[in-house]
Amino acid sequence: MYLATLMLLGSGELGREFAIAAKRLGCRVIACDRYANAPAMQVADAFEVFPMLDGKALKAAVEKHKPDVIVPEIEAIDTAALADLEGAGWRVAPSAKAVQLTMNRDGIRDFAANQLGLVTSQYRFAESRDDAIAAAREVGLPCVVKPVMSSSGKGQSTLRKPEDIDAAWEYAQSGGRAGQGRAIVEGFVAFDYEITLLTVRHRDGTSFCEPIGHLQVDGDYRESWQPQPMSDAALERARHIAKTVTDNLGGHGIFGVELFVKGDDVWFSEVSPRPHDTGLVTLVSQDLPQFALHARAILGLPIPRIEQRGPSASCAVLAHGHGVPLFGNVDAALAESDTALRLFGKPRVAGHRRVAVTLARADSIDNARAKARASAAALTVQLAEE
Ligand code: AMP
Repeated sequence: MYLATLMLLGSGELGREFAIAAKRLGCRVIACDRYANAPAMQVADAFEVFPMLDGKALKAAVEKHKPDVIVPEIEAIDTAALADLEGAGWRVAPSAKAVQLTMNRDGIRDFAANQLGLVTSQYRFAESRDDAIAAAREVGLPCVVKPVMSSSGKGQSTLRKPEDIDAAWEYAQSGGRAGQGRAIVEGFVAFDYEITLLTVRHRDGTSFCEPIGHLQVDGDYRESWQPQPMSDAALERARHIAKTVTDNLGGHGIFGVELFVKGDDVWFSEVSPRPHDTGLVTLVSQDLPQFALHARAILGLPIPRIEQRGPSASCAVLAHGHGVPLFGNVDAALAESDTALRLFGKPRVAGHRRVAVTLARADSIDNARAKARASAAALTVQLAEE
């Protein structure tokens, strides 16, 4: 009856779109996360609630549902358990090695800079405040301090003056996923723009999406657009870096390769072996959005062509506070032609969370961005008491 059973580890908004793409291809989807009613669970065939860092619970869920493929959607997973599962014959997409190396910033950074010889920002790791001071001295100011295990800008700050180090170190300690610990201190790259190069490894080779430009505020994605104009030389370098990294991570699936660009120079920053938040724009900009590409690649289906539909943009909608997100003014947000949105269905918000994204196409990148921003501004989000 089903083409395949996929077990999704992490069930956020990206997982939800992936689950829909997989369902369209006739898959059975088991959505897992640490809380019930997570966005992907709402569209899945079955769900399991357990912390993804709990390897025992993860193995038990795999034994119970016997998925054809385990598909990680988040970084914070017990990767040793994933490697054990792969060793025991279960399939992990794109591979346990890719998930393991990209879980923490230190793993992938050392791999890219030392083993693959790619150009990255200057960097040092710091285990303590004193280490961080020495690291900042070595890489020079300004520099960026981040917990090795974090995402969406949590715990990240830019150090401009030596006296900011205490605040930066404290913030890095509080913002990491797994509590206190190691930080990376990176030399600041004064890039002209940054991109995500979505790269798909599939049964017939490697395909690239058009580059996605994005705007980050405090390390958190706010807007993305496609195609980002680039010089031929920069695009060629970007593709070369993306191919090198993804070939060495292996497996089939989509990768979000994050790069900084200045003139024709390109720096490797990070890679996600899964759909990328800035890639939400592909929901309107491509005939095969990143989620469909990931599903096809994982299932061994062909990807003969990826059609880009012209200037497109996405704008993140954030909520701050505590409660159940309630949306209003959805009609106004969709009033313009060629706009769309995704309300993620997060059952509750605690702190600072992305709860929706608006999407638009237009005759230029600027107009697409303006449309997506206007649509996001029209939408209202209230946090209701539970
Ligand atoms: P990351 O979580 O490492 O992707 O960082 C989030 C964002 O912070 C990036 O997309 C950049 O906008 C900015 N950023 C991170 N590292 C650096 C760096 N070394 N130089 C300049 N900007 C950076």
